[in-house]
Amino acid sequence: MRNNKTIPLKGGAGGGPRILFIDRDGTIIVEPPITFQIDSLEKLEFLPYAISTLRKIAEQMDFEFVMVSNQDGLGTKKYPQKAYDLVQRKMMKTLKNEGIIFSDIFIDKSFDEDNAPNRKPRTGMLKKYISGNYDLKNSIVLGDRLTDLKLAKNLGSKAILIRNALNKKLKVPAELTDVLALDAKDWNAIYTFFSSPSRNISHTRKTNETSIAIGLDLDPSTSSGQVPKGKSKISTGLPFFDHMLEQIAKHGNIDLTISAKGDLQIDEHHTIEDVGITLGETFLKALGDKRGIERYGFCLPMDDCLAQVALDFGGRNWIEWKAEFKREKIGEMPTEMFFHFFKSFSDAAKCNLNIKAEGTNEHHKIEAIFKAFAKAIKMAVKRDKDNMQLPSTKGVL
Ligand SMILES: [Mg+2]
Repeated sequence: MRNNKTIPLKGGAGGGPRILFIDRDGTIIVEPPITFQIDSLEKLEFLPYAISTLRKIAEQMDFEFVMVSNQDGLGTKKYPQKAYDLVQRKMMKTLKNEGIIFSDIFIDKSFDEDNAPNRKPRTGMLKKYISGNYDLKNSIVLGDRLTDLKLAKNLGSKAILIRNALNKKLKVPAELTDVLALDAKDWNAIYTFFSSPSRNISHTRKTNETSIAIGLDLDPSTSSGQVPKGKSKISTGLPFFDHMLEQIAKHGNIDLTISAKGDLQIDEHHTIEDVGITLGETFLKALGDKRGIERYGFCLPMDDCLAQVALDFGGRNWIEWKAEFKREKIGEMPTEMFFHFFKSFSDAAKCNLNIKAEGTNEHHKIEAIFKAFAKAIKMAVKRDKDNMQLPSTKGVL
C-alpha cells in the first residue's frame, strides 16, 4: 500500500540533511521468534534485498543513515553484551563492504516497563536531530513495529513499515496512518517507492478572469493499476478546445482532468491562455526533479497535414511556431489563440517547444499539432526506473 505522500529524491533546499532512521531487528536482519534476540552468528540473517536496496538508496539518494534500535536487557546475563557485539560487528562490516555507512548508531538497552526516555518511540537518544539543523519533515523512520511509526510521529517525520514473518497481521491504528508513507511488503517495494515518486498531482489557478483546476497523472498505469491509460475529462466551455485537450491525454497516455471557468462573455482569450499557463505549471510540478525522464520528445504524424512538435523539458522556456491558419476560427476557437496557448504552456512548464505544421485542412492541421504535442510529451516524460539520473550534465533542470 502506498499512501499519497511524495518523498522527494532530494531533500528540501536549505532544509539541512535528511535522515533515514533505520531499525535493526526485523528490518535489516531477521528477528527470531520467542527470544527476539540475535545473540549468535548462526542467527544472523539479512532480510531479502535489504543489502542491495540500502546500497541503491545510499548511492542514489541524499539520506544520512542512522540506526535506532531497542535491545531489551542488553548487557544482562540473558543477553550478554559480548554476544551482541559479535553479531553487530559482523553485520556492520558486511554493510560497510557494500558501501552502506551509518553516521550514527543508537541502542537503548532498557525494558519496555522501564519507560526510559531513550527507548523508542521516545526520542531521548535523538536530541541532536531535533535541536540540530536537520530536515526532519523529509526524514523517514524505517522499521517493522508500531514503535517505529510512533517514533516517526514524535520526530515529525514520515515512516515506512516493512513487513516480515512476525508482523504480517499487524494493523496500523488510525492515529498513525498519517505518518505512514509506505506499508512495504519487502525491501524491493521500498526501492520502487523511492525510485518512482508519484507523478499524480492536482493544481489550481485563480485570477479575476479565470478559475482553473487540473488533475494530471503522468503514470496512470502505476497509480491506478488500470487500463486504458489516457483518460480525460475536460470542460473549458469551449467544445473545440476540449476536443484538442483530450488529444493530449489520449495520445500522451496520461490521465488529465481540466475544469476551467473563464470570462467567456468577454471572449475566449483569457480562458485559452490561462489553461495553457495552468497546464504548463501542472507539468512542471508533476515532473518534480525530473530524474530518470527522457526529457526530449518529437514526432511527425501525418493526416493530409504534416505536423512536427519537438519538445525539451530542460528548464528554459522558448517557442518556435511555424503554422499558418487562414480561417479566423475553428469551432469557437480563434486560430490566433493556438500559438498563444502553446506559448503560455512553454512559459509555465519551462520547456522548449518547436512546432511546425503544413497542410490545407485547418481542422486537421491543429488536431495534428495537438496529437504530435501529446506524443512528444509521452516520450519526454517517460521515466527509466533503473536509471534515475538527471538527463543533464549541468546537474539541475
Ligand atoms: Mg524491529
